[in-house]
Amino acid sequence: MDTWESFVEACLKCRKCPLCETRTKVVIGRGTNLKAPLMFIGEGPGEQEDIEGYAFVGRAGKLLDLALEALMFEPRQYYIANIVKCRPPGNRVPTEAEAQACLPWLRFQVKYIKPSIIVCLGSTAAKHIIDKNFRITQERGIWIEKPGYFSVLATYHPSAVLRDPGKKMDFFQDLKKVRTRMQAENLWQVS
Ligand code: URA
Repeated sequence: MDTWESFVEACLKCRKCPLCETRTKVVIGRGTNLKAPLMFIGEGPGEQEDIEGYAFVGRAGKLLDLALEALMFEPRQYYIANIVKCRPPGNRVPTEAEAQACLPWLRFQVKYIKPSIIVCLGSTAAKHIIDKNFRITQERGIWIEKPGYFSVLATYHPSAVLRDPGKKMDFFQDLKKVRTRMQAENLWQVS
């Protein structure tokens, strides 16, 4: 598996965990730039994503898009993926076994895209990418450095923001931090 095309082909045929039995589509991600400087990582596809085959195209995705647009991000600056690529039934949190089975696909995407910045959307992503004991309410909005790889920050999952509008301001401020850093590190202009 060395090209993006061979990765996609393998992903679409994946049967490494039981989520393959109930999925409609494998959700590889969403993005127009496979060299984007910024990568968002969510939890797993929901109902709409499972139908359409793209990440964050349901209500939570609309909120994310709206916030990014308000902050003047452009789609070519980011790529969006998830911890698992197939929908957990009823939108439950993926099991540890499901996440572990799926993570090699995400690792390929990170290696291929080589984002300078990763934003974990919610605690499932933060627990798998940053630290298994990550506490989203206490540790969101803080940069963690992975020298030679990327800088990572976690914020609330947009579904959590939809459920609790009190989280909106923190979510927005966290995304603003990402913008400030991209501007400071010359990651803002993309071709
Ligand atoms: N929630 C996620 O975590 N990912 C999606 O793609 C959609 C909703």
